[in-house]
Amino acid sequence: MAFKAIFLDRDGVVNVDKGYVYKKKDFIFTDGIFEVLRHFQRCDYLLFIVTNQSGIARGYYSENDFLSLSRYMLKEFNDNGITITKIYYCPHSPEANCECRKPKPKMLLDAQKEFDINMSVSWLIGDKISDIEAGLRAGVQNLIYIGEGECANAHNVKSIKEAMKLIS
Ligand SMILES: [Mg+2]
Repeated sequence: MAFKAIFLDRDGVVNVDKGYVYKKKDFIFTDGIFEVLRHFQRCDYLLFIVTNQSGIARGYYSENDFLSLSRYMLKEFNDNGITITKIYYCPHSPEANCECRKPKPKMLLDAQKEFDINMSVSWLIGDKISDIEAGLRAGVQNLIYIGEGECANAHNVKSIKEAMKLIS
């Protein structure tokens, strides 16, 4: 039996997007995120983070900086009763034209294969059009946009707390 999943973008969804965040002190969890993710877990969703991290290719921070911040984030989640099944990240620049950077769907499709995810009962939450585009291309049935303005192909909400009400 396949699993259902919620794919979360990181910056702007899990934490406040301050632009190329790589230090603990700049990593501010979004309001209500722990409560929301515990709710998703109770509803039997596996949780994934899927994030573009071009700051690595741009030399703003190293891959080790990213991994170290990820360990901190996962520890905070653990301490709050939340298990993230896996973090997928793309370290490349847009110019590299790699296969993984969103809006390409590869990171989502990798998760689907690796963990036997049924995309037709899964959700993606993002704050950029490129997140939604990746979700569409990967066949994720339910898309939630919490960014600026409106996004045509997704549920539009103002916050992660509001996104919680859509998923049960
Ligand atoms: Mg984002």
